[in-house]
Amino acid sequence: MSTFKTLDDIGDVNGKVALVRVDFNVPMKDGLVTDDTRIRTAMPTILELAEKGAKVLILAHFGRPKGERVPTMSLSLVVNEVAKVLGKEVMFVPEIAGDVVKQAVGILRAGDIALLENTRFWKGEEKNDPELAAAVAANGDLYVNDAFSAAHRAHVSTEGLAKVLPAYAGRSMQAELEALEKALGKPEKPVAAVVGGAKVSSKLDVLKHLVTQVDHLIIGGGMANTFLAAKGVNVGKSLCEHDLTGTADDIMANADASGCTVHLPYEVVVSKEFAANPPSLRTCNVHEVAEDEMILDVGPLAVEALGDVLKTCRTLVWNGPLGAFETVPFDAATVALAKTAAALSHEGSLISVAGGGDTVAALNHAGVSQDFSYISTAGGAFLEWMEGKELPGVAALSA
Ligand code: ADP
Ligand code: MG
Repeated sequence: MSTFKTLDDIGDVNGKVALVRVDFNVPMKDGLVTDDTRIRTAMPTILELAEKGAKVLILAHFGRPKGERVPTMSLSLVVNEVAKVLGKEVMFVPEIAGDVVKQAVGILRAGDIALLENTRFWKGEEKNDPELAAAVAANGDLYVNDAFSAAHRAHVSTEGLAKVLPAYAGRSMQAELEALEKALGKPEKPVAAVVGGAKVSSKLDVLKHLVTQVDHLIIGGGMANTFLAAKGVNVGKSLCEHDLTGTADDIMANADASGCTVHLPYEVVVSKEFAANPPSLRTCNVHEVAEDEMILDVGPLAVEALGDVLKTCRTLVWNGPLGAFETVPFDAATVALAKTAAALSHEGSLISVAGGGDTVAALNHAGVSQDFSYISTAGGAFLEWMEGKELPGVAALSA
C-alpha cells in the first residue's frame, strides 16, 4: 500500500473549510435513525477538525436517489441525529455546491459544522464529473475522506475531490487501512483465511486472490460443498453450485502451486429439512451424507482441528460464516471457531481481521466482536480489498 496523509499531516486548519466525506447511510424507520453506528464512526474525525478550528462541511450519500432530489432520501432527515451524536449544533445546507454553500460558509465560524445534502441528488456524483468536483471544491480548502465503505466507488465525493484539493484520510479510514494492511498487505506469517458463506460464485475473486496470499485457506459454509463435490464427494441435496466444480478445482490447483493448504470440512452437520433443531439432525463423516440430506454446518471435531490450525498462525482474515448460523444449531461451528480466534487474539498471539455483512452479525452473535483485532463493517469495499483490488477512493488519497 502506498502511503497516505492523515489528520496528523494537516497543519493549521483554523478558519479553513474542510470538506469531509463520511458514511451516514444509516438505517431509518418511521423517520428515526435505528442504528447510529456509522455516525459514531465518523465522530472522531469531525470533532477533531472542529476542535482544530476548521469549518467542517460534511458530505455523504443516503440511499439511491439516482441523480434526482428524492425528499425521503434527504440528509435533512438525519441532521438532528448527527447533532445529537456529536453533541454540537449542525447546520443543514440543502446543496453541495454553489452560492447557497458559499453563504453557509460565510455564516459558519471556526469550529462550526454543517451537513450538506445527499451527494447522490446530483447526477455528476456517480459519474465522477470533473465539473461537479470543481464546483464542490470551490467552497473548500481541503478534503478529508473518512468513508472507507464507499472507497470502492470512484465518485466525486469519494475520489474526484481528492484530485483537486489537498486530501487526507480521516481517523476511521486510517484505522481501517492500517488494519487491512496488517491482515493482507504486510501480514505476520503464517496467515490463515476463513472464507465461508452461501455461494462460491459470490466470492470467486476473493478465493482466487487469497490462495496466492495466505498459508491456510479454510473453506466453510455452503461454498465448501462445491469444493467437496469437485473432489467427488456426494453432497446430497446441499446447496451446491455443480457448474462451478471446475473452477473449484482450478482454485485448489492454484493453492497447491502457491504453497497454500486448503482445509475443507471432513465432518459435517446434516439434516433432511432446513429448520431449527430438526428431528433428522445428525453429525457424520463428509463421505456419509445421504442423498436426501443437506450439509448445514461444519462438525465439532473438524472445527477443533481448524482451531488447531489457527493456533499455528499469527494472522487471520475472515469473511463468511461456516454454517447456516441464523438457525440453531447450525451456528455452532462459526461460534466455536470465532471463540478460538477471539481467545488467541485476546492473548496477543493472533491478529484477527473480519468483515462482511453476515460475518459481522455472526461474530456479534458469538459475542466475540470485542476481542477481534479489527472488524470491518464496510461490506462491498472490504470484499474488493479481499479480492486484491485497488480501491479508487484509497488510491486517490495515496497519490
Ligand atoms: P457475508 O455477508 O459475511 O459476506 P455471505 O452473504 O457470503 O456472508 O454468506 C452468509 C450466508 O451463508 C448466511 O445467510 C448463511 O446462512 C449462509 N450459509 C452458510 N453456510 C451454509 C450452508 N451450509 N448451506 C446454506 N447456507 C449457508
Ligand atoms: Mg451476506
